[in-house]
Amino acid sequence: MSDEIRLQVKHLCKSFGVTKAVQDVSFNVKKGSVHALIGENGSGKSTLTNMLTGIYSIDSGEFILDGKKIHPHNQVEANNEGVSIIVQELGTLSGLTVAENIFLGHEEQFVTLGFKNTNAMNKKANELLHQYGFDRIKASDMIDEYNFEDRKLVEIVKATYFHPKVVVIDETTTALSQEGREELYKHMERIKKEGGSVIFISHDLPEILDKSDMITVLRDGVYIDTVASADVTEDDLKKYMVGREMTGNYYRADYDEKVSDEVVLSVKNVAVPGQISNINFELHKGEILGFGGLSESGMHEIGKAIFGASFDREGSVTLEDGTEINDIPTAIKHSIAYTSKDRDNESIVKNQSIGENICLPSLDELAGPFGIQSDKKQNEFANKFAKEISVKMVNTKQFVSELSGGNKQKVVLARWIGKDSDIVVLDSPTRGIDIKVKQDIYQLMDRMRKSGKSIIMISEELMELIGMCDRIIIMKDGKISGQIDRGREITENTLIEMMV
Ligand code: ADP
Ligand code: MG
Repeated sequence: MSDEIRLQVKHLCKSFGVTKAVQDVSFNVKKGSVHALIGENGSGKSTLTNMLTGIYSIDSGEFILDGKKIHPHNQVEANNEGVSIIVQELGTLSGLTVAENIFLGHEEQFVTLGFKNTNAMNKKANELLHQYGFDRIKASDMIDEYNFEDRKLVEIVKATYFHPKVVVIDETTTALSQEGREELYKHMERIKKEGGSVIFISHDLPEILDKSDMITVLRDGVYIDTVASADVTEDDLKKYMVGREMTGNYYRADYDEKVSDEVVLSVKNVAVPGQISNINFELHKGEILGFGGLSESGMHEIGKAIFGASFDREGSVTLEDGTEINDIPTAIKHSIAYTSKDRDNESIVKNQSIGENICLPSLDELAGPFGIQSDKKQNEFANKFAKEISVKMVNTKQFVSELSGGNKQKVVLARWIGKDSDIVVLDSPTRGIDIKVKQDIYQLMDRMRKSGKSIIMISEELMELIGMCDRIIIMKDGKISGQIDRGREITENTLIEMMV
């Protein structure tokens, strides 16, 4: 890290209606540094970096890059100023090829005499993919053929191939496996060596401490402090972020409670070709059953299979009363809830309001005589459950797409609390969510368990499985590779040994 300043953020402000998302924030980013930006969900991190990269307009304040004021109006202008971003949500465009995504807005380099030379563009893209070690991704393929993680890798190439002066990485690591993360860290290191600067946003505090040089903390849109990573601990950062000591327990505190013998769901010989096979387990009343493993271990498919959402599923998923679950409507009707890992594409209806999202599975119950929907009933219902789980919002009429990741997750959870589901399947419920909202979700799970609800928690975060579950099943290569009961002595290594 050099002492020279690359980017000055000066008195930046941005509001959305009554929400003051960023309020008079100023700090400096040095050359050749990784500068982390941390804060709870909704603290303004994405809003700030979206202004820097031309995605949002600036209300007031300025960005000074290498001594010169920049004011990009879109991402292409930002790139031309030497600034790029890997956004928090999906940042590649469907319907285009990998190469078209990489060079979006910069196609002119491949145009000769008015013709776009697709071959040259693909060739260049393949060269870059090769340099980055992403050979399995092919330039001429449609981006839609790739999963979320691979699309993020394409974004890494897109955002860094042209040696930008400042690269923003907004909560990208939560979407990546350990392997993908290592790739990203390598490129962060390279950018640093070349004298560029990385603005790094992540909720993973150990990762922040490990990878960044400086850390700026935001809280509710307000600047709190900038510190050197070497001078602080994880606990210090937590305190800065929430502005108080974390109160109460983070995970469950009990260890010796006995789980009921009552079986509410049994899964027999379940298989989904190419994904999982020979899956057998039972879920008990009031139990939190965890599923862990590497991201491609098949554990995410288990959640879909239980919810009747898998294609070509074999075997049986049976409730206590003998009902077989083979499709989603039957699952919902029989009080099963499911939240997907891919919150933005599978759980949330983006172009609907918070209220509409919460009422979605309960519309039948909320309808009046003759199935006529009542706005009043829906409003009351949505307000009640949004409040119960403290969704941070203006009101339930607000579009759900305007919320931060943690608050979107709360909306999805409010939906199923409202439905009063007995069996709740949560796939990666705290993915990309800050510690305060995580704590809210853990406490909610604990309350649900105590009231006799049964929960399946699928997670790539081993600590939360250990902290929250009565029992953990580990998946490997589509099969169950081990199982372990709740206990104080379990460590991450105990589970990792079963995973790999
Ligand atoms: P973070 O990235 O730190 O989680 P954000 O910058 O996404 O936080 O959000 C800051 C605040 O601004 C939140 O209250 C959020 O709901 C609000 N917000 C963000 N984007 C929009 C938008 N496009 N429209 C309305 N409100 C928004
Ligand atoms: Mg954000």
